[in-house]
Amino acid sequence: MAKENVDIIICGGGCSSMLLLFNLQRYPKFKTLKILVIEKEIQNQQKTWCFWHKGNHPLQHLITSSWNNIRFAAEHFITTQEIQPYIYSSIKGEDFYHYFVNQFIPQFPNIKIIRDEVLSIEKTSTHLSKVICKHHAYISSTVYSSIIENKFHEAPIFLWQHFKGWHIKTEENIFDENIMTIMDFSNCLPNSFDFVYILPYSSNEALIEVTAFSSETWDDSVYLKQLNKYISNKLNGAKYQIETNEQGRIPMAYYNHTALGKAGEILIGSAAGKIKASSGYGFEKMQIDAARLASNYFTPKLSKQSGPKRFKFYDKLLLKIILEKPEEAVSIFGKLFKKIPIPMVLKFLYEETNLYEEALIFKKLPAIPFLKQIFK
Ligand SMILES: Cc1cc2nc3c(=O)[nH]c(=O)nc-3n(C[C@H](O)[C@H](O)[C@H](O)COP(=O)(O)OP(=O)(O)OC[C@H]3O[C@@H](n4cnc5c(N)ncnc54)[C@H](O)[C@@H]3O)c2cc1C
Repeated sequence: MAKENVDIIICGGGCSSMLLLFNLQRYPKFKTLKILVIEKEIQNQQKTWCFWHKGNHPLQHLITSSWNNIRFAAEHFITTQEIQPYIYSSIKGEDFYHYFVNQFIPQFPNIKIIRDEVLSIEKTSTHLSKVICKHHAYISSTVYSSIIENKFHEAPIFLWQHFKGWHIKTEENIFDENIMTIMDFSNCLPNSFDFVYILPYSSNEALIEVTAFSSETWDDSVYLKQLNKYISNKLNGAKYQIETNEQGRIPMAYYNHTALGKAGEILIGSAAGKIKASSGYGFEKMQIDAARLASNYFTPKLSKQSGPKRFKFYDKLLLKIILEKPEEAVSIFGKLFKKIPIPMVLKFLYEETNLYEEALIFKKLPAIPFLKQIFK
């Protein structure tokens, strides 16, 4: 098998890989490096990435919609709040990949995209690794990988965040385009952790998604029933047409992710555990990690990989409650949003709170479900 020697190999050409390229390119020496991105398939561009951020985002030019207000609803409680200093934004997958494939990468003749499947990565010497693909092999001193070894099912706690949604256009103007709905539990099934998520793009256009956290994904008919129920009960039976569909699932695993793979490759994205186990959000964490990795490449130093370990412990407790007592988890989320200002909830979900703020948060939540999980 022929071998090619390059400066950097990136295995997988998805979200975290593009974010890594974007951050590497900020350094002048980038143009002198020979870089390969190995991706096995054409991207599914139906995703929408949502995240919250402060001020201008490095990928601001790709953001199509932003909201300054978030609404949360449960059966007997609704709150809508401004989320300063944050802004909640969305980037469409098709815009993201269109930008990287047609604009960003063509500017750099030093980046080559290879359509191939990575079969394995091997360490060949202290400084070099070999990436073996179906059709070719490549050698480099620096290998990044976003390829997930399907070990999630072995995780001690594992569930899916699974969802199906419609981008709809309604006949009447029924949405407030300044307010996104992060979770509406008022449509929830019995003994289930499911909610409706709404991104209004204009007064008569929105993405409405039914999302559930559970160990098994649902049959299509269940999402459809939940979507129809919500539109007829909560949106007063609005008349609409479906523009596009979005469906997906995100692994939410309590798992001890490592920074490096077996051959010493640097893990990125989901493979590095950048998707928060209890929320499923990963985009902003991946962008911040890509900036850290790029800085490490050009000015190697020891920098912290992730936040304090206690956040993993909180995730573990919450995931266990969602799995074992979904109704209790719905009530915990209700209390969280009722008693804690939403910007503080967002700060907590990004693992940016300090111990004092966390103590204030936990003081307002029902202690028993958490204590039961701790002392089990
Ligand atoms: C439908 C969906 C919606 C999401 N929405 C959000 C959101 O709104 N906000 C948020 O913060 N997070 C969201 N996430 C979570 C997370 O941000 C995404 O999953 C993100 O795409 C993860 O990036 P990644 O690079 O780790 O994986 P991917 O983007 O999946 O990239 C991995 C790439 O590796 C390729 N690959 C795999 N195996 C091989 C192989 N052997 N050889 C070569 N190539 C290979 C794959 O084809 C893929 O292109 C969402 C996830 C999903 C699935």
